[in-house]
Amino acid sequence: MPHDLPKAYEPGAIEKRWAEYWISEKLFSVQTPLPSSSEKDTRPVFTLLLPPPNVTGRLHMGHMLNQTQMDIIVRWHRMRGFITLWLPGTDHAGIATQMMVERQLASEGKKRRDLGREKFIERVWEWKRQYGSAITDQMRRLGASVDWDREYFTMDEHLNRAVREVFVRLYEEGLIYRGKYIVNWCPRCGTAISDLEVKHEEVAGKLYEIRYPVAGTNEFITVATTRPETMLGDTAVAVNEKDERYTHLHGKKVLLPLMNREIPIITDDLAQPEFGTGAVKITPAHDPNDFQAGLRHQLPQIDVMDEHAHMNQNAGPYAGLDRFAARKKVLEDLREQGFLVGEKDYIVPLGKCDRCGVVVEPRLSTQWFIKIQPLAARAKAAVENGEITIVPENYKTIYLNWMNNIYDWCISRQLWWGHRIPAWHCSCGEIVVAREAPTKCTKCYGGKLTQDTDVLDTWFSSGLLPFTTLGWPEKTRDQEVFYPTTLLITAYEILFFWVARMIMFGCHFMDGHQQDAKIKAASGWAEKKDDSVPFRQVYIHSLVRDAERQKMSKTKGNVVDPLDVIERFGTDATRFTLAAMAAPGTDIAFNESRTEGYRAFANKIWNAARFMFMNVDRIAGAASVAPITSLQPATLEDRWILSRFNRVAREVNDALATYRFHEAANQIYDFFWGEFCDWYLELIKPRMAEGVSEETARSACWNLVVLFEAALRLLHPVMPFITEEVWQAIYDGMPPQKSIALAPYPQACEKQIDLAAETEMSVLQDLIVSVRNLRAELKVEPKERVPIEVFSHDPETWKLIQNNRDAILRLANVGHISEVSESRARLAPSRSTARFDVHVVYEKKIDVAGERERLTKELEKMEKEIANGQRQLSNEGFLAKAPAHVVEGLRKRGAELQLLREKAVNKLAELK
Ligand SMILES: [Zn+2]
Ligand SMILES: [Zn+2]
Repeated sequence: MPHDLPKAYEPGAIEKRWAEYWISEKLFSVQTPLPSSSEKDTRPVFTLLLPPPNVTGRLHMGHMLNQTQMDIIVRWHRMRGFITLWLPGTDHAGIATQMMVERQLASEGKKRRDLGREKFIERVWEWKRQYGSAITDQMRRLGASVDWDREYFTMDEHLNRAVREVFVRLYEEGLIYRGKYIVNWCPRCGTAISDLEVKHEEVAGKLYEIRYPVAGTNEFITVATTRPETMLGDTAVAVNEKDERYTHLHGKKVLLPLMNREIPIITDDLAQPEFGTGAVKITPAHDPNDFQAGLRHQLPQIDVMDEHAHMNQNAGPYAGLDRFAARKKVLEDLREQGFLVGEKDYIVPLGKCDRCGVVVEPRLSTQWFIKIQPLAARAKAAVENGEITIVPENYKTIYLNWMNNIYDWCISRQLWWGHRIPAWHCSCGEIVVAREAPTKCTKCYGGKLTQDTDVLDTWFSSGLLPFTTLGWPEKTRDQEVFYPTTLLITAYEILFFWVARMIMFGCHFMDGHQQDAKIKAASGWAEKKDDSVPFRQVYIHSLVRDAERQKMSKTKGNVVDPLDVIERFGTDATRFTLAAMAAPGTDIAFNESRTEGYRAFANKIWNAARFMFMNVDRIAGAASVAPITSLQPATLEDRWILSRFNRVAREVNDALATYRFHEAANQIYDFFWGEFCDWYLELIKPRMAEGVSEETARSACWNLVVLFEAALRLLHPVMPFITEEVWQAIYDGMPPQKSIALAPYPQACEKQIDLAAETEMSVLQDLIVSVRNLRAELKVEPKERVPIEVFSHDPETWKLIQNNRDAILRLANVGHISEVSESRARLAPSRSTARFDVHVVYEKKIDVAGERERLTKELEKMEKEIANGQRQLSNEGFLAKAPAHVVEGLRKRGAELQLLREKAVNKLAELK
């Protein structure tokens, strides 16, 4: 039997089947279009780069939201005829992956250094082959409509080649240099370690207060520290500019005790007036915050320790002492000379080496940097002049602020896993930067070269992806077509790390690039002049929080696992939840009960489809689907639903164009459930009942199928699976496209928008709902059909009611409708609207108190609305600006409200 949908809607099996089908049929794989000779066959292009998840990652709610929004936008473009490329990949995630493998080694009792670099890297690749596709497997199961044929990994050979090319070019342009940077240093292991390799503890210690004499005065400034030995390397004392205690000392100097060096008093926000004395010592070579302050004020960096954390020659008389011995001696001397003025018990935060447990020392070391100003200036301009738009707009300001306060970027990392820096050190001291390993030193021609041991920051390679994934440094057709990418959807937290870097690199390395002019014009970007930017638009999505609006975190134990939610309610319902709650700029308070509700929505569609198929099989034998634009409305409900469909299609398209996912989702939901299932299906039933003419039944059936099919396409981007399942069933093995994902997206046909039909239907709905409510209040037994009396204010309304008598009888469960010649508003139980009064003729006593309460509330609401309307209509400014139809609408509504108020007042009097 055709159209045989199982009785129960089981998302799990359906979703798995279609997700596999989409991949095996390569539905989302994109052929690069060749240059086109004619204007007509150039299609618009839509390109989106997937923010590559870490290869070590597992899908979390943030991904789920991000990917849902991307998939909605991508499917919507594809259905609108765009050549749509969604490019997937994973990031090698330097430190995260390295630690994963180190943990694996630890379980075998081995360490990274036991294996050596080469063997270790081999192990990482092995790990990647074994576990690295976990997150993309999850994406496959979720049906993300990416082009899997173009999947990349940031350590792929061609991407590595591009990374080396970029490094060498920047170096040759003088934009890469070596300089000092502060890192976590383990004096025992003799190496820099990353933040993630530092174990943080809190131990009982002391806070020492030391006073520094102000040069040329009798005054002192007191500072506090837990590491007094670092004072030997102080190069300034900072106070807050707003701190009035120190205003008179601005520009003066202090004499550093023990060292007898003069150092300046500077103003910096690092000094907080409410903390301690409000003055802090600045030791750029031994503290990360001080290091940054030092850069801000161009202070000297005095390193007072060696690699074993022994004091060096810069520490004067303390040279040679271990750091802890030096601490003791420094304190003794300070006490003796009267500079130590306080000593308090204090909880000291301490970082220890994850491997050996020795206290980590912040230490200056030589690192690789990118000179950022020249790159940042261009990247700032691209956003300022609108070549790239950022949505929501407040992020534009944040971005520009960052770009105005940007520092050089330290790009080297002391790791093994990552893109190794293409620089070779010669024993003569020369550094050779080259695309391939050099055999000879360019200075001394010696052959003793060793490659720099550092790797590049992961963001260095991911910052290049918009063009390296399209074949750069070769000039490719892919770039002409797909670069600039159209859109980037990403999280706020990587706006700077990733988005800003992509803009800097894109503008720099794609400078002069021209997108295929015809494709560019067809895609709607003709007015944009700069084709070097990596994307035209950035959409920053919100955060998913728990139901109580708390940030999800492992320690709080409130993390919602999307796979668990999907398991229970289906991917479609989970996607719908995230879309329906995603108002731009507000975080989502994820509540499972909402997902349960959208599971019910899917169920509603499922049952409606089964109802449709039952009738199709009985009446027509096979579904016949015509374009919705050719649908011939036979009745008021046809005209109405068609009009509503087109109106909703217009609103949904508008909403998606501006990333108002919640509006799109809610519009479709209200239409599909509230109008199509709850009203249209009910209204159309008699036309398909036993005994009606075959012609009537067939035409009703076909209209139903056409509308259902179109509504499925409208919903598809948000709920891809159930729509595919039902859509395929409609076509019963012979769909016009391989998938609903390739079918056209509904566009509003203005001709089919029928205001009269919408108004008429709303009168009927009002009447039916009024009677239903009255019946509910009176607690009328469902079986009992009650008579109603209707007074209509104009003959047209009565005609409408008469013409739709059967529908009213059936849907309001009414026995008889009689027209009366005067208002029944005074009679209880009744309801009034501007078009009619309806009175349910029912013997049972009504609840007078309840009715009075209801009416009083209604009256209050009306009074408020009347007052509001009057205020607006008497506001000259408003009248001058508001469109005529708005003003007219307000006047009309005002008149209606006056009428309704009169009726309510009369009825209240009656009820006394
Ligand atoms: Zn160590
Ligand atoms: Zn050399």
